[in-house]
Amino acid sequence: MTGPENMILPRTGIGVDVHAFAAPGEPRPLWLGGLHWEGERGLAGHSDGDPVAHAAADALFSAAGIGDLGTHFGTDRPEFTGASGVTLLAEAARIVRAAGFEIGNVAVQFVGNRPKFGPRREESQRVLTEAAGAPVSVTATTSDGLGFTGRGEGISAVATALVYPAANVHSSANLER
Ligand SMILES: [Zn+2]
Repeated sequence: MTGPENMILPRTGIGVDVHAFAAPGEPRPLWLGGLHWEGERGLAGHSDGDPVAHAAADALFSAAGIGDLGTHFGTDRPEFTGASGVTLLAEAARIVRAAGFEIGNVAVQFVGNRPKFGPRREESQRVLTEAAGAPVSVTATTSDGLGFTGRGEGISAVATALVYPAANVHSSANLER
């Protein structure tokens, strides 16, 4: 199952999250990539509906092999009902570290017609990186008019994360001395 004793094997994880835009009669603020987007139509769903932050948190759990968002923020932890995506990401990072992993990085890409992301990319990455305590990069694309994202019905996000066993890092560092 595992490699040589003193070899550090990183682990990758994946997370996908989708939220529909809120119905016109029930306007909500848009939270995406840890940022509030003034004047943009918001997304429906639990908490702030931030698919970028949720996918990032899910990818961290996946990489550590300790379940998913539902496992950790389900009905047994009601204190996280309605929590912001940034809060969930920070808590996910804490749980993953408590499980014995360090976080290499997280990469997220969302698919949607709007908002125009480029001008605020750095700001978003800064907020999410601070929450995770590790580099989080965010990119954006469209689906060329196809599917629910192309029709402007919602936004999807996919994330990958890389973690590595903290204990193995320390023991292999000791072996090199
Ligand atoms: Zn979500």
